[in-house]
Amino acid sequence: MKKLILFDIDGTLIDTHGAGLFALKQATEEMFQKKAPSFDIHGNTDSALVTHVFQHYGIAQDAETTEEFYSIYLKKLQTNLNSDDYKGKLLEGVIDLLESLRYREDIELSLLTGNLARGADVKIKHHKIGQYFSFGAFGDDHYDRNSLGPIALKRAELATGYPFKAEDTIIVGDTIRDIDCAKSLGCRVLAVATGAVSMDHLKAQGADLVLSSIGDTLYAYKFITGEDIDACGTNISTPEDI
Ligand SMILES: [Mg+2]
Repeated sequence: MKKLILFDIDGTLIDTHGAGLFALKQATEEMFQKKAPSFDIHGNTDSALVTHVFQHYGIAQDAETTEEFYSIYLKKLQTNLNSDDYKGKLLEGVIDLLESLRYREDIELSLLTGNLARGADVKIKHHKIGQYFSFGAFGDDHYDRNSLGPIALKRAELATGYPFKAEDTIIVGDTIRDIDCAKSLGCRVLAVATGAVSMDHLKAQGADLVLSSIGDTLYAYKFITGEDIDACGTNISTPEDI
């Protein structure tokens, strides 16, 4: 039996320090020449956020204008990530956890994120974790994050030839929407409090395991693999507050 691990990006693997949100505002203002509205970004999909912009201004949205917005957004995102104004970072423990799982034949690493596929690519490559992920489900596959789970399973099967099941899948994320998405798919969820949601809130929402961060790598590894902690590699850090 193989397991599929679906990682969220923002607040879970990477903190872009607002580079993505600001790119969204910049794209809005450049395209519509109006002040951007407020955005409910946490766990939302980029396609839903862009539709929110069009609806906010009462402007009809079609494939062409959507692509125009995406392309402005992606340019701004890349510029912001490269700028010294954004002190984005890879979150603690991410490399240790990904390295410890990367070569296991019983585990497939993938993404389930609200980012556009091209935006996800920009972010993970900027933070040098692109080599861990070759497929996933993204915010331009569907506006509703809860619809991304089945897409992620299909993509994983297409990429690997293995028919992954929801019960052998784990979502790793930082928001209530990640937990809802896991429940909708029927898989387990590891929640980390490195985004905007507290551990208590994530627990109350029914995450199967809540950690302060992926930096509690030992517990994340044990939850994902189902193996005893003692079997973990030596580069796995010890959790501090469990
Ligand atoms: Mg997130």
